[in-house]
Amino acid sequence: FFATLQPQPADPLLSLIKLFREDGRAGKIDLGVGVYRNDKGETPVFRAVKAAERKLVETQATKAYLGADGNVAYLDRLRALLFAQPAPSDLVGLQTPGGTGAIRLGMEIANAARPGTRIWISDPSWPAHIPLARIAGLEPATFRYLDPATGLVAFDEVMDLLRNRAEPGDVILLQGCCHNPTGADLTPAQWTEAAAAMRERGLIPFVDFAYHGLGTGIEEDLAGVRIIADLPQYFLAYSCSKNFGLYRERVGALFVRTGSTGSNLAVMSNLALRSRLLWSMPPDHGAAIVEAILSDAGLTGQWQAELAEMRARIRGVRALFGKVPGLAVLAGQQGMFAQLALQPEQVQMLRTEQAIYMAESGRINLAGISLEEAARFIAALGDGQAA
Ligand code: PMP
Repeated sequence: FFATLQPQPADPLLSLIKLFREDGRAGKIDLGVGVYRNDKGETPVFRAVKAAERKLVETQATKAYLGADGNVAYLDRLRALLFAQPAPSDLVGLQTPGGTGAIRLGMEIANAARPGTRIWISDPSWPAHIPLARIAGLEPATFRYLDPATGLVAFDEVMDLLRNRAEPGDVILLQGCCHNPTGADLTPAQWTEAAAAMRERGLIPFVDFAYHGLGTGIEEDLAGVRIIADLPQYFLAYSCSKNFGLYRERVGALFVRTGSTGSNLAVMSNLALRSRLLWSMPPDHGAAIVEAILSDAGLTGQWQAELAEMRARIRGVRALFGKVPGLAVLAGQQGMFAQLALQPEQVQMLRTEQAIYMAESGRINLAGISLEEAARFIAALGDGQAA
């Protein structure tokens, strides 16, 4: 029965984590894994999350099933956080297992509405985007995103896509902020220009928002999403993995602006049906935590302060890299990731000779290392480039 199955390549980042773990050298450095770490190398549970969990233990009265759309109070809190109020009446949403669940479900619905729709994905992007699009039935296509000379978005290419290459009805996948893997984001003015082109040409934005609050600020990071939110139809996939540190709890949400309240029922019932067939119901614990935090001013303040600490640390590491000749662009980029212009052989050499681990693409997680490790990595990079 299973003889037809071919072994699949292991996820390269997971293989890298394993190699790192097995490396016995002292002072090894892990730039691969996509989680935030503090300067001590830990990914601690947020104090606001711990407090919310204590509250839940005391007050949660039942673990009985929720409905297909998940925790409605959590969704209301997110809606209030993300959208200008009052949110439009043709906005529907449901809770999903992480951002990945939201992306998968959104793509399923896009494909259910218009089978085989083309979806444009930046090159490079988070490696799961293309396979997720494919498995949902969509037809992925790519556009060049980063101008390596400036470290900024290759905005001319983005606009060429939106004005000329994409066809009306195509879906455009954009990351809300802290682009993974490049760290290069559209400016608010560029979001405005891109949104106008998408409106004019009938393109459907699909915003993947997995790093809200890890860029410039909770409000500032919303600039792009708020501009897109004025368009008549869009998808927004939200993740609480990074900004609440809830990675393994699998907390996310999918919002869809349907274009008219008359379409809400069709869209929502299709979302509910598909989610039922994918995961039946989203896990509750993480969403209940987010709800508890966002519905209590004290906990919200604590969460905001912890997120601000994370941002400050990421900026500190970026500033350090920014002083290195050739890496100045990193200081102006945002979020956890940066794409270094390294060849696979250089990446390999750093690993074998210096015990420095990163994705073969040259993507590094700046939030994964201490300032001291960053300094050592920079020195090793200098050695490698001179060689
Ligand atoms: N989008 C991007 C750009 C990501 O980097 C990630 C995870 N690293 C996700 C979505 C999915 O996050 P999760 O499913 O863990 O919430």
